[in-house]
Amino acid sequence: MSAKPVTEAVKELSMLKQKTMIAGNYELLATARESGRKVVSTFVPGNLNELIMCFDMANNLPEINAIQSGMRKKSGGYIMEAEKRGHSEDVCTYVKTDIGMIAKGNLGPDGRALPDPDLLLLSYTGCFTFMKWFELLRQHYKCETAMLHVPYEGDGHASKNMRDYVVKQIKEEVIPKLERVSGVKFDIDRLRQYLAESAKAEQNFVWVLESAKHKPSPIDAYFGGVYYIGPMFTSFRGTADATEYYRLLRQEIEQRIADRLGPVTPDGEMHEERYRLVVEGPPNWTSFRDFWKMFYDEGAVVVASTYTKVGGIYDLGFRHDPDHPLETLAEYCLGCYTNRNLPARVDLIEKYVNEYEADGLLINSIKSCNSFSAGQLLVLREIERRTGKPAAFIETDLVDPRYFSPANVKNRLESYLQMIEQKRHGAATAA
Ligand code: SF4
Repeated sequence: MSAKPVTEAVKELSMLKQKTMIAGNYELLATARESGRKVVSTFVPGNLNELIMCFDMANNLPEINAIQSGMRKKSGGYIMEAEKRGHSEDVCTYVKTDIGMIAKGNLGPDGRALPDPDLLLLSYTGCFTFMKWFELLRQHYKCETAMLHVPYEGDGHASKNMRDYVVKQIKEEVIPKLERVSGVKFDIDRLRQYLAESAKAEQNFVWVLESAKHKPSPIDAYFGGVYYIGPMFTSFRGTADATEYYRLLRQEIEQRIADRLGPVTPDGEMHEERYRLVVEGPPNWTSFRDFWKMFYDEGAVVVASTYTKVGGIYDLGFRHDPDHPLETLAEYCLGCYTNRNLPARVDLIEKYVNEYEADGLLINSIKSCNSFSAGQLLVLREIERRTGKPAAFIETDLVDPRYFSPANVKNRLESYLQMIEQKRHGAATAA
């Protein structure tokens, strides 16, 4: 494989397109008050972006703001600020970053203040923290709130009753509030158009994720994957921009497959794929590049990850369906990763290890995210038992720089890769 310099790598059209889209959304938020546009805050898993767009509202996602702060090395200060105000060390660090950020003027990544929300829209999908987080924001902003209660898939699937229950709430609770706050009347045909646009983008998005089945994989489905999920899981699903982004991305990856190239990393193209891993759990954001480098320096590529399913699982077949607009929104909320029970998550990971021909499973256990971390030891043992492939644990945090210990992480990763080598050697000797 030939090496390309970083400067060339970062010029990929899809990347530039995404940058422009993100800047555009922050512009929309920063100017919302002048333009008279109403603002809704909502969470990533199970978000109702297509519905929100029907009301011409700007979409502000507190988790994304926390990630942006983490990547810009600002979250540490915000977390300390929140802790000074009484939030314990164990609280999810996205929440503390948001609280600290508000206390410090709520500046977005472009340095301009984010507007106060006019509505807090909670699609409650499995993580109890979502509810407590919005309770805090409600106390602070004293604005309208809409709660969409999404029943947990405790039995591993969604029943018709569960779907009807969510649809009823969308009709009777969510839409009336969005109409009242925005002053815009709901138009179901407008929703259908956005959903049709979502389905087009989702088709290419799944193709991109599944391209990692190739050898070598043309993408890194965790570190690269966090960029690929951006438009799909945030304020762009349902827009023509998102459709165009995934079309461009697919085109670029098709070319990479044709050229037999590995993933693009911050240091240019990866040269040799030595290990294929499945990763469970969100990444660390404060040392994101150092973390990624530990992998590509060793030739380790992540071919599938659960984190890229956090805003919706599409590779099991779900697509937004414009012919059943409210039902499809309900199904989307019900099926997202945080709303699935442990056995369903284990099945998914097992499928990834097998279908992507991975060497094993690596779990990044996040100190402050109970939603992902609970039960991970069980996941590890069960995957080892079912697949016969080695699994391992590393521990970091989302956006708290105090919980990223580079020496420890590197050490554990290297030991794990050695374990894979030993297994391979053992298998070769046995054969
Ligand atoms: S899923 Fe994890 S990171 Fe997200 S709000 Fe819940 S605890 Fe925090």
